[in-house]
Amino acid sequence: MGRRLTAFAALAVTGLAALLAAACGKEGSPPVKGPKPAALPVYQVAQGFRLPDSATWRAAERRGHLVAGVKEDQPYLGQKDPSSGVYSGFDIEIAKMMSASLGFDPKTLAFRTIASANRETALQNGQIDYYVGTYTINALRKKQVGFAGPYFIAGQDLLIRKNEKGIDGPQDLAGKRVCSAAGSTPLRRIESDYPKAHAVAYDTYSICVDNLLSLQVDAVTTDNTILLGYAAKAPEELKVVGRPFSQEPYGIGVPHNDTALRLALDDAITAHEKNGDWTKAYDATLGLSGHPAPRPPAVDRYPAG
Ligand code: GLU
Repeated sequence: MGRRLTAFAALAVTGLAALLAAACGKEGSPPVKGPKPAALPVYQVAQGFRLPDSATWRAAERRGHLVAGVKEDQPYLGQKDPSSGVYSGFDIEIAKMMSASLGFDPKTLAFRTIASANRETALQNGQIDYYVGTYTINALRKKQVGFAGPYFIAGQDLLIRKNEKGIDGPQDLAGKRVCSAAGSTPLRRIESDYPKAHAVAYDTYSICVDNLLSLQVDAVTTDNTILLGYAAKAPEELKVVGRPFSQEPYGIGVPHNDTALRLALDDAITAHEKNGDWTKAYDATLGLSGHPAPRPPAVDRYPAG
């Protein structure tokens, strides 16, 4: 890089995507941390596995592979390399584990990027077989889709500019512009519990982060897992407040009435937690944003109906 813009001015102009791409090439800057493929576990493909009671599984068998809905702009969770098209992150690893347990080589697993607001529709209309992307289990969503898991518990937090002085928690958001994703639980919580905040919604959190860097909004709110990833990628510009104010149990979304698939995925999550895959995958992905692996939460095998 010849000319020396201050990092912040450059960011405000070029946005997050450019920041993520440029950070590795800039002289003197630390390499951007990212999932290290060598450290990722290889998941044992279940031989001769069958799930005839699952319409989703039967369709995948005819097709020859599974299709997982994921995110593509959430560092360490679900991220797509724009040049290679390869997806990586903790949620991607969970999706691969599930494929292996259902008898399909994870190498054949197809990924589709689906935004928060479109998850239920994607599962309802058969666009995807299951969804792994920071998807909070809750009663409202359970009316439309099924959830295996939880496989992780996050909490809603705030991402702010490093030089921000006035925001220590959601109580300080009155009159501030707060960005989140349409169709997400954090957006809903701000709108219902902090009505004096000025909520702004976009399709994705990376657009919110661009708006934070260019001073269009004062904070971004969503799960701490997601925000820690953005902060780790731009530590000079961004910080996470660090006082989570909700519980966001992550589930694997499945079509509503496919109980056989849901329970098979519950079994698969438990098996991968027991055999060490879960922790190894965490350490190689989400763990890189700064928190050691927690104990995975207990799976909730709720009855059909
Ligand atoms: N976990 C929250 C949700 O499911 C926020 C993250 C997201 O939008 O994926 O709505």
